[in-house]
Amino acid sequence: MATPTDHRPDRHRVVVIGSGFGGLFGAKGLKGADVDVTVIAKTTHHLFQPLLYQVATGILSEGSIAPPTREVLAHQENAKTLLGEVIDIDLEKKLVTSEVLGRRTVTEYDSLLVAAGATQSYFGNDHFATHAPGMKSIDDALELRGRIFGAFEMAELGASKGDNVDHHLTFVVVGAGPTGVEMAGQIAELAHRTLKHDFRAINSRSARVVLVDAAAQVLPPFGAKLGEKTKKELENLGVEVILGAMVTDVDERGLTIAFKDGRTERIDSVAKIWAAGVQASSLTKTLSEQTGAPLDRAGRIAVNPDLTLPGHPEVFVVGDMISLDNLPGVAQVAIQGAKYAAKEIDGRLKGKAPQGPFKYFDKGSMAIISRFRAVAMIGKLRLSGLIAWLMWLFIHLLYITGFKGRITALLHWAISFIGRGRSERTTTVQQIFARQALQRLEGGAADLVSEPGEYDANRLEEDRRAELEQQAAEEARLTDANERGAKTR
Ligand SMILES: Cc1cc2nc3c(=O)[nH]c(=O)nc-3n(C[C@H](O)[C@H](O)[C@H](O)COP(=O)(O)OP(=O)(O)OC[C@H]3O[C@@H](n4cnc5c(N)ncnc54)[C@H](O)[C@@H]3O)c2cc1C
Repeated sequence: MATPTDHRPDRHRVVVIGSGFGGLFGAKGLKGADVDVTVIAKTTHHLFQPLLYQVATGILSEGSIAPPTREVLAHQENAKTLLGEVIDIDLEKKLVTSEVLGRRTVTEYDSLLVAAGATQSYFGNDHFATHAPGMKSIDDALELRGRIFGAFEMAELGASKGDNVDHHLTFVVVGAGPTGVEMAGQIAELAHRTLKHDFRAINSRSARVVLVDAAAQVLPPFGAKLGEKTKKELENLGVEVILGAMVTDVDERGLTIAFKDGRTERIDSVAKIWAAGVQASSLTKTLSEQTGAPLDRAGRIAVNPDLTLPGHPEVFVVGDMISLDNLPGVAQVAIQGAKYAAKEIDGRLKGKAPQGPFKYFDKGSMAIISRFRAVAMIGKLRLSGLIAWLMWLFIHLLYITGFKGRITALLHWAISFIGRGRSERTTTVQQIFARQALQRLEGGAADLVSEPGEYDANRLEEDRRAELEQQAAEEARLTDANERGAKTR
């Protein structure tokens, strides 16, 4: 039987970059193939991004939407995972270089599947990120959870002293796409339902939740009718929707928006959430430089119809990183693209004919507005309200990875949607400020650990052993000499 450490030198090596939808489904798609798969990702988990907003607003724990990739692939004997941020891809030499905490690894491949996704785009104003975090990772969601619940705490503290706390009780979500709508709806539900009995000096229901977008409508990809319906539902929940307004400045205490007619408005708000714009992983740059494949404005790379790069049939790029036929940045594009690439790699090794161009099957889109309210678009069908919400529930349960995750999510949804509680309200100071603290270090987290080779494990072990032996001897002496509880002064 093959063990995870078995490696046939002649076996085809597939490196998969990323453990998101594309990476995970690509690796799984190669389960029965005669290949060695190495998944290299900068996090140890797979992430179900569509539910990040529920982690940020205390409904779900991070564990229920982010299972360890190692565990998910534990029974796939031809797959292994490596932690590391890919910093270079050499298409000529077929090498991937990754790094974690200053430790570098170079991995060789025969086929490469790149699924490194996208990050938040601040449209050239990256400094906005300091005070308006995005929502792309578990770190982001936990920081936002800290900022949102923390804002209510600071408001309570200020109000107890008679201070004006409007800036603490104003929450601004930038971007009225699905993520922004979901965040705004959930913060409004928090303020109006979950927290209404928890404070003494403030009335959580007086919180102002603002959703801002430069576009003229909410949820543009869902069309005008569902967009208008969503706007009305949000307003019924108490969300203030400001459209046609561009954010021109963000600082610690608030933000400035500008309208088309030149008017500007300042909104005082400590807790701001950035849910506008995406930028493909910077790995597209290095791929573009080496192949000549152009990048679009969001940094997505133009791929061949079979998802490969020009001149490199062994390199597939899938998901949020690609620009092909105006495909949207959604999970199904990544999943279907990754499955297609895996099938192609396996087929080539078996001498099968190419599958032909990649064809995306649109299974529809949905966005949740609040409990029991959602909008959905499936083909020509437009749905809203409870039926759309039930569909959302079913589909998300189906796609959450692993049985454990599904059971936990279902339980927590019952607590939050049938009841009014939130099971995951724990926040810490580090959750809120660690990102900014790490950014102040020149080398980030790598500055906090010793250099590779610098750490003398033997010496440290000897010192520690001597210390422990001394401690144990003193403990025994105190007991034997009956000195416990005896006055020492
Ligand atoms: C908040 C939010 C809500 C969303 N809601 C929906 C929804 O409701 N429905 C829907 O269909 N889609 C939704 N999406 C979009 C969907 O999640 C993405 O389209 C999908 O995740 C893309 O898959 P991917 O594999 O391309 O990238 P991702 O899933 O983002 O995976 C990228 C992977 O690459 C890793 N990575 C990145 N850079 C590097 C590097 N340099 N080295 C190593 N690893 C790296 C990351 O850690 C991650 O594991 C949402 C996205 C967000 C952020």
